[in-house]
Amino acid sequence: MAMEAQVSQELKRKMTCITCPTGCQLEVERDAQGNLRITGHQCRRGEIYAQNEVLNPRRVLTTTVRIRHGSLPLLPVRTAEAIPKELLAKAMEVLAQIEVTAPVKTGDVVLANILDTGIDVIASRDMQRVEGAA
Ligand code: SF4
Repeated sequence: MAMEAQVSQELKRKMTCITCPTGCQLEVERDAQGNLRITGHQCRRGEIYAQNEVLNPRRVLTTTVRIRHGSLPLLPVRTAEAIPKELLAKAMEVLAQIEVTAPVKTGDVVLANILDTGIDVIASRDMQRVEGAA
């Protein structure tokens, strides 16, 4: 995982790009004026990843919510897009309160606009209704 060493406003950080399976080892340096110098990337996507990790880290949240009358007790869900990393724990708390009812199709919106991010939480798989299931 990322290592970080921060001195005043300057920053030097190593990270692994997770945008594709190549997993380039990136190094980001930020000088006192806030300018970023990124090395180790093999493509533009890696440069953007490193910038976002320093300036606005985001992650797709994958988890489960309870489902009534489903073939399983829990439904896998995910955010439709990455949300700010600092909201992940709060989003988990919100989703722990959610219960949906089967049937559900992949991509169905389980919760719209989670934490006012403008991003929906969607079902990651189909779940059929099973009569008699809790
Ligand atoms: S920098 Fe480009 S090639 Fe390297 S892991 Fe990231 S996306 Fe893949």
